[in-house]
Amino acid sequence: MLRIETGGSPYGARLVTDRPYRQGELICAITGYRVTHQATYQTVQIGPDTHIEELGVLAYLNHSCRPNTIVDTTAMEVRAARDIAAGEELTFFYPSTEWEMDRPFICLCGAPQCVRLVAGAKYLSIDTLSRYFINRHIRDMALAALDQALCQAITEGHKS
Ligand SMILES: [Zn+2]
Repeated sequence: MLRIETGGSPYGARLVTDRPYRQGELICAITGYRVTHQATYQTVQIGPDTHIEELGVLAYLNHSCRPNTIVDTTAMEVRAARDIAAGEELTFFYPSTEWEMDRPFICLCGAPQCVRLVAGAKYLSIDTLSRYFINRHIRDMALAALDQALCQAITEGHKS
């Protein structure tokens, strides 16, 4: 069972599991959502221009730079990124779904690899993104942005 705890998190509420999970195990399927083209701080991005809202308990999954779950927007599943003990808070890496976030924030996860400013994948290097599970739409958008940057660099190189 998953339960919502208020307090005990700098983000207000948090999602805690009552049972342990093994790495790769399904925690829950993402169902009952509504598709929207308007991103808010409560939506999860599932495509370049597509977001989902009304996520139920999943709305309480906080961000961590050392996440213990994967939100897979292709399979529409939340899975254990590593072994999880009963009583642990469940977290995921927000830039794994979000390209550009409606409400960026400073991360307080305390992990050594903390990215500090959580504003979406657009603001992270390919090197940083490569350390995480990243959804297909984010990978595509990151590669497109990289292509554009390379193109610009080449064009500007020709000008000088
Ligand atoms: Zn962090």
